[in-house]
Amino acid sequence: MTEFVPDKAFDALAAVIRENTPHADLARIREAFDFAAAAHEGQKRKDGSPYFTHAVAAATITAEMGLDDESVMAALLHDTIEDTDVTHEQLEQLFGPDVADIVEGVTKLTRVQYSTLEEAQMENLRKMLLAMAKDIRVILIKLADRLHNMRTMEYQSPEKQLSKSRETMEVYAPIAHRLGVERMKDELEDLSLLYLDPVGYREITSILDKRRETLEKFQKAMEERIESRMEREGIACKVYGRLKHIYSIYRKMYAQHLGVEEIFDLCAFRVIVNDLADCYNVLGIIHEMFRPVPGRFKDYISTPKPNNYQSLHTTVIGTEGIPFEVQIRTWQMHMTAEYGVAAHWKYKSGPAGHKEGDEEKFAWIRRLLETQQDAGDVQDLYHDLKMDLFDDEVFVFTPNGDVKSLPAGATPIDFAYSIHSAVGNSMTGAKVNGRIVPIAYPLQNGDIVTIITSHSSAGPSRDWLNIAKSGEARSKIKQWFKRERREENIVQGREMFEAEARRIGLVMADVTDPEMVPHILKRMAVQDLDDIYASIGYGGMTAAHAVGRIRDEIVRNRTTVRKTELEKMQERADRRQQKELRAVQGVLVEGLDNCLIKFSRCCTPVPGDPIVGFITRGLGVSIHRKDCVNYRRDTDNGRWITVSWADRITDSYAADIYITADERGGLVMDVATILNSLNAKVRSLNARDTGKGLSTVIITLEVSHSSELQTVINKLQTVRGVRDINRGGQ
Ligand code: MN
Repeated sequence: MTEFVPDKAFDALAAVIRENTPHADLARIREAFDFAAAAHEGQKRKDGSPYFTHAVAAATITAEMGLDDESVMAALLHDTIEDTDVTHEQLEQLFGPDVADIVEGVTKLTRVQYSTLEEAQMENLRKMLLAMAKDIRVILIKLADRLHNMRTMEYQSPEKQLSKSRETMEVYAPIAHRLGVERMKDELEDLSLLYLDPVGYREITSILDKRRETLEKFQKAMEERIESRMEREGIACKVYGRLKHIYSIYRKMYAQHLGVEEIFDLCAFRVIVNDLADCYNVLGIIHEMFRPVPGRFKDYISTPKPNNYQSLHTTVIGTEGIPFEVQIRTWQMHMTAEYGVAAHWKYKSGPAGHKEGDEEKFAWIRRLLETQQDAGDVQDLYHDLKMDLFDDEVFVFTPNGDVKSLPAGATPIDFAYSIHSAVGNSMTGAKVNGRIVPIAYPLQNGDIVTIITSHSSAGPSRDWLNIAKSGEARSKIKQWFKRERREENIVQGREMFEAEARRIGLVMADVTDPEMVPHILKRMAVQDLDDIYASIGYGGMTAAHAVGRIRDEIVRNRTTVRKTELEKMQERADRRQQKELRAVQGVLVEGLDNCLIKFSRCCTPVPGDPIVGFITRGLGVSIHRKDCVNYRRDTDNGRWITVSWADRITDSYAADIYITADERGGLVMDVATILNSLNAKVRSLNARDTGKGLSTVIITLEVSHSSELQTVINKLQTVRGVRDINRGGQ
């Protein structure tokens, strides 16, 4: 290792700076240089050289990109906060807020701990890094830092080589690509490949080495041939031949299942011209000189790539049938291609050296992105950079290194519930980057969040609903309250149930009768009676609904359960007897056999109602309820005769119910809902407004006993606004 001589090192850096940013303030940069050198005094790199050489190298790469003075200074200082006693305040005082903020930004990125992440997580990680680097210069310096570390990776342990290379390949190279810093991307990829697949890497480099002489000769010849032809055409241009970068050849081999020998276009040429019109002129001439390969021409000038890359691409067949690619672009496009977003500073480093606010800077990026029409990943890129602009997401780590994406402003509560509701429900506190924080702490990009849980936790508090930012967390907290307040709900629900039971004359002892309970549970589709109470208490079911259905179930089961064999025999005997009495439609008419029977429409009698018959003229006997107004009006008329219901009824009968209720929307719906819940056989249902704010609903049901009707009437009485229910014939 050559000795580190500060003056010499600075001169070398200054030369690069002068070349790229002629108006740089070298004195100021020297101050940062000396300060950082002193701060890192005594620290050594793995190869034994002074640590500060790394900072100088990163600054040199930064200068090569043409970044501004602040960036170069920040690059020199980039490891001072992390590795020395230097503080942000100190840097701010000495070098201004910009430099201090950039160094702090780079430090934050450096502190991000990676583990082996799934591919799906990688995208989040890239977004996170971009989101963390509020200033695009932060990420460019981080890339410079990483590039130098990759260049000197040979001194690291094999494990570190592998993990850093994977991270570079999966995180930093794609970021460089998105920012359009192609030169850096290519180098990062090649260096990573060297450690990730040394065999594949050497396979390619050995072939390139073997052919190097031929290729270089070919390159040189081609450069001259193209340049001289362009000169004759009167076009000023510069032609650069180059070998394609190793990883691009590697990728092609794998994607197309080719051996290195089968990849011919190892060479590529760039023709760089002064203005746009010349690009197309050059293209025409190239196609005249060489035979173009069909389908390989791409116009990235009229349709730039998402990262703002512009060029004409074509592949042609050269001497001896070897294909090669030609890229044609202006100097300005070339700048953007090589330096991506960094080219922005190159353009801007004019004599005025004017400063822009972040707003304007990001507006520039936004414009750049918005003008891109190339579908593909433009959306992604836009989204990534949008992080800086709109901050609608925050990316944090689990202690295992998984990345979680949460809405901006998310708190440890949101994080806990995003892991699992059990974690959220038993959360008692949280640590961020190893320190206890309040549960309302707004998470920052890159935070490592640890949730402290306890089995004895009392569960979430109601305030959490106001603190949590994600819908997921809020709905899980609500769920908890619904479930956990069960005891309370049961107590309240049981009271409501008992009150309703009392109201309709249902005895609680019947409900809790061990023989009856299984039937009730089955009918209500629940595990135990508490479920019903809890549901009533929570408001999921009305007490009236539950009591009504349970009462029906009790009635139904009582009839079947208590039906003994003896009773069944009795029934059979009864039926025989009825037959002898010639019951007609379930009605026995005293002294008249087999007469015609009809049920009056005025009072619609059904079994269970006391009835009386009227001998019509020629139409048989019409049956009325004894409380029918028609009977009461002329009881003395000699045509009334005694009738009775047969003991055993199998038919069903039509019966009317008249409801008078306050006129309101939803009345009929409520009535229908109840009829449905009782499984009532409805023949017709008519409603009409009667004026004076009242409505009448007339229902015709099919029943086999008046008790069924009574059940329906009782139930309908609970409908809001109902004033009177009767069976007609009054
Ligand atoms: Mn570093």
